[in-house]
Amino acid sequence: MNYDISIIGAGVTGSLIARELSKYDLKVCIIEKEADVAMGTSKANSAIIHAGYDAKPKSLKAKLNVRGNELMGDIAKQLDVPFKRVGSFVLAFNEEDMKEVNKLYEYGIKNNVPDMKVINKEEVKEMEPNISDEVVGALFAPTAGIICPYELTLSAVENAVQNGVELLLECEIKDIHKQKESFVLDTTKGEISTKYIINAAGVYSDIISKMAGDDSFTINPRKGEYLLLDKRQGNVVNTVIFQPPSNMGKGILVTPTVDGNLLLGPTAENIDDKENISTTNTGLSKVIKGARKSVPSFNVRDVITSFAGLRASSSVGDFVIKESYKVKGLINVAGIESPGLSASPAISEYVINILKTMDISLQEKESYNPIRKPVKRFREMNKEERENIIKENPLYGNIICRCETVTEGEIVDCIHRPAGAKNLDAVKRRTRAGMGRCQGGFCAPRVVEILARELNISKDEVTKMGGNSNILIGKTK
Ligand SMILES: Cc1cc2nc3c(=O)[nH]c(=O)nc-3n(C[C@H](O)[C@H](O)[C@H](O)COP(=O)(O)OP(=O)(O)OC[C@H]3O[C@@H](n4cnc5c(N)ncnc54)[C@H](O)[C@@H]3O)c2cc1C
Repeated sequence: MNYDISIIGAGVTGSLIARELSKYDLKVCIIEKEADVAMGTSKANSAIIHAGYDAKPKSLKAKLNVRGNELMGDIAKQLDVPFKRVGSFVLAFNEEDMKEVNKLYEYGIKNNVPDMKVINKEEVKEMEPNISDEVVGALFAPTAGIICPYELTLSAVENAVQNGVELLLECEIKDIHKQKESFVLDTTKGEISTKYIINAAGVYSDIISKMAGDDSFTINPRKGEYLLLDKRQGNVVNTVIFQPPSNMGKGILVTPTVDGNLLLGPTAENIDDKENISTTNTGLSKVIKGARKSVPSFNVRDVITSFAGLRASSSVGDFVIKESYKVKGLINVAGIESPGLSASPAISEYVINILKTMDISLQEKESYNPIRKPVKRFREMNKEERENIIKENPLYGNIICRCETVTEGEIVDCIHRPAGAKNLDAVKRRTRAGMGRCQGGFCAPRVVEILARELNISKDEVTKMGGNSNILIGKTK
């Protein structure tokens, strides 16, 4: 296996870089240790496309957040990813908080965030009636939005693969050897030879950089726990509701998701274990208490699941996006904590600009197609559209997931797309089958049958998330 460029990590950062590189006449691969894309931090975050007033002016975070927000609308359209510019509030509950709100407004002005305003209690309550009566004012930023982070990631990979990038799943980088003009990557799938490495390995990006010979930064995981509520609670608020940030992050938010649920969280806890995404009683209690401060009225009996994600907090304090000064040919894209999702389109643009300064020929391909084949989402269709699609393909007339109205047609389609689903969770992330109130209780056995049939494997070979996570282990009498 011989490549011009190998991208390590198929999170949102690596995936959008892969898509950007698929414009050029290069042999590119994206290498992921897990059995699907978006299995790291890109599947467990607040899903906010931030306006860009939080980050310190002149930082890379500030610059790339604002640019990423600007690019997101077009990218979401090209990749057929639902994205809503709902706007965000930072609430103030006292005069001290108001000072913070005004500081964020000043940062926003310096960072070129458009159309923000500082508003009083009455204006906040008019826009968001369920906000706490304790609020005294707020910063409102209309350009903030909500998106599905894993759908953005997997659609970018799908489009990159469609344009010639190779996706190597369940391929873990174990070691890296620098040769004179190239690298040899030792992986669980054998050796890969590559001229350049783009290190987008999230919380592991310090380990990858060190394997290649650069130990100039460390990544410290900071865990954030969340609660997701049923769609019945989805319109408790219409916008993203933040509290003033602290040195541990942006605080506990209350937000609708792009799919109509209500999301509460995250906590912020520095931990050592890069694999610890457990949720805890203490963490989730903090989430409820913190969220109630902003919005007292949500019903906690409508919680359908909890999850946690790890922020890749760097020792440098900003995104680390540059060619290593110690190892020629290694481009680190590290420390991509929040606002990494928002910045991701701008990060890919920035990486291409770095490559342009290096000894690499970037010839644009005529065949490049930025448009991902649109997804047919049955739940969003009107009666006539539903009748037509069922006539065209009767599999769309068979509802598999009743909570989220997902049809057999959609599940079959997601399995056969480029970089398609190979396991139960991959189908869930692509179609929402299993994301609803029953969390897969009804549809999971049917999805297992469809996966087995379409992938031509036996049902006991179907896994939840790759590796040895087989779902069926034998037969009862
Ligand atoms: C609690 C929380 C809330 C957040 N909220 C927001 C938000 O609202 N808005 C926002 O803009 N940002 C937010 N972020 C930040 C955002 O989620 C991240 O910036 C983004 O997801 C980082 O993506 P990534 O691709 O860099 O990393 P990841 O998604 O972690 O991807 C890295 C990939 O590398 C793979 N990998 C690692 N080691 C190896 C190896 N040895 N071999 C092969 N593959 C490997 C991993 O399996 C993983 O898939 C939040 C983050 C957290 C944790």
